[in-house]
Amino acid sequence: MMLPHTADAAPHLGNSTADAAPRLGSSTAADAVPTALGASPHGASGSASSELGRVRPPRHLADLGEGDRAAWLADLGHRPFRARQLSHHYFANLTTDPAAMTDLPAALRAELAATVFPPLLRVAEERRTDRGATVKWLWRIAGGAGVESVLMGYPERVTLCVSCQAGCGMACPFCATGGLGLIRGLSAAEILEQVRLAQVVARRGELGIGPARVTNVVFMGMGEPMVNYQCVIASVRAIAAPPPAGFGLSARNITVSTCGIVPGMDRLAGEGLPVRLALSLHAPDDALRDELVPINRRYPVADVLDAARRYYSATGRRVSIEYAWIRDINDQEWRADLLAAELRRRGAGWVHVNPIGLNPVPGSKWTASRPHVEDRFAARLRASGIPTTIRETRGADIDGACGQLAAAESRDHG
Ligand code: SF4
Repeated sequence: MMLPHTADAAPHLGNSTADAAPRLGSSTAADAVPTALGASPHGASGSASSELGRVRPPRHLADLGEGDRAAWLADLGHRPFRARQLSHHYFANLTTDPAAMTDLPAALRAELAATVFPPLLRVAEERRTDRGATVKWLWRIAGGAGVESVLMGYPERVTLCVSCQAGCGMACPFCATGGLGLIRGLSAAEILEQVRLAQVVARRGELGIGPARVTNVVFMGMGEPMVNYQCVIASVRAIAAPPPAGFGLSARNITVSTCGIVPGMDRLAGEGLPVRLALSLHAPDDALRDELVPINRRYPVADVLDAARRYYSATGRRVSIEYAWIRDINDQEWRADLLAAELRRRGAGWVHVNPIGLNPVPGSKWTASRPHVEDRFAARLRASGIPTTIRETRGADIDGACGQLAAAESRDHG
């Protein structure tokens, strides 16, 4: 579920694009993300979109759970314990470079690394802003579609916003990604590669806060996580598993967002994973939400709020309600009161609201609310006892809601 922009989701980005790509590849040959694009067609609409979505990524070690990795290595004719060595290089050392794998027989390294770590993401574009503390990438995936991730460094945390699909089929009209339509879901390894490559950048100290590590991962980039459920959950498990099984982040620092796919919300509640659920509501009434988030016609406001409340009951994790303010559309005080009433009706202490300003898509009729209107809306929620945190935005001077790079590229090349 893409948010238009939040501090931890999809901030605006800016400045030039091509200069930074080589930095990713500055340490080792295999960690270098190839910048040359393949011969795959560009564009992401109509038949071009379905062409892009037809190609599947090659199998990668990170697609598999721990036990399956050993079985795969055995199938390839290698000793099963090689799986643990390779996992350590990937998840702990963050490398796929055979030259760094000195615990493997020299004769095996290159062949093994090429087999289990096929390149999945190529840098098509990189933008940095906020004095280097925010990095946004447009990646090229197998088949040629573009997906985005955003890395944000703060003194106390480093947050990565990942994509789980190329494009999105949910068709929210204010969203650049929605305009692309669904191209295809990402594999677990394609999601995990976003984390690994961001972790490399953080570890090298490129965010201007010294050597750091990604502490938080939010599934708020391109795509609706509940539609690519299995790959999202597999990647969540690997992000949270301690090395060498995974990257070793706290599951509590992982946020899975949704536009309100009720069966997916209930399924997530039963996974035994203490991840945070973010529900992108954007309107408290069906009349408006039917328009802003078309899946609402299938899962209306009352049903998604009930599911969010069940999520809290099952996990003890407070649910985030995401609310993108859109000028004169959803920012009226009466809607703040209605939202507060709907949340209060379901109990206290289970939810908080994160309103954010809309980062408008160029050419769209949807635009950002006025600051004093936003302040009044937030004040009404707080006066009703609803914890409310207005999200800080970054780089608000320049373009870049999530999906805009891919959408712009689609327009250029489609
Ligand atoms: S179209 Fe998809 S990515 Fe965009 S806001 Fe809707 S659910 Fe999120």
